[in-house]
Amino acid sequence: MTKAILVNYDYCTGCHSCEVACKKILDLPKGEFGIKVCEVGPFQYSEREGVKGIWEWTYMPVITQACDMCAERTEQGKMPMCVQHCQAWCMYYGEAEELVKKMDGQTRWSLVTVKE
Ligand code: SF4
Ligand code: SF4
Repeated sequence: MTKAILVNYDYCTGCHSCEVACKKILDLPKGEFGIKVCEVGPFQYSEREGVKGIWEWTYMPVITQACDMCAERTEQGKMPMCVQHCQAWCMYYGEAEELVKKMDGQTRWSLVTVKE
């Protein structure tokens, strides 16, 4: 079974708590990240059918190569630091096969696994 992190980034507020919590547990120097919140927008769609007139302003946490899925913590039954500190409760940790079932086809999700 493969462990994964699932993010419903429609609900990510861009608060950066996951980023800060991860930097602390990985003890990374300035400018390096285990997870990094990226921002798209804000901009307004001008022509495209279906989205014309609506605003895009999306935050999405990107998990980097430094991530080890918080192996030490999860082996003790704890949540990964980023998941535990997510202010919007939009991050989940578990078996990839189970997490996929949460993806509802109505909101935007990203499912990430890392090299074990
Ligand atoms: S699982 Fe742990 S190492 Fe990976 S991004 Fe989250 S806090 Fe960082
Ligand atoms: S802690 Fe949660 S809400 Fe905040 S930036 Fe990270 S994923 Fe988004």
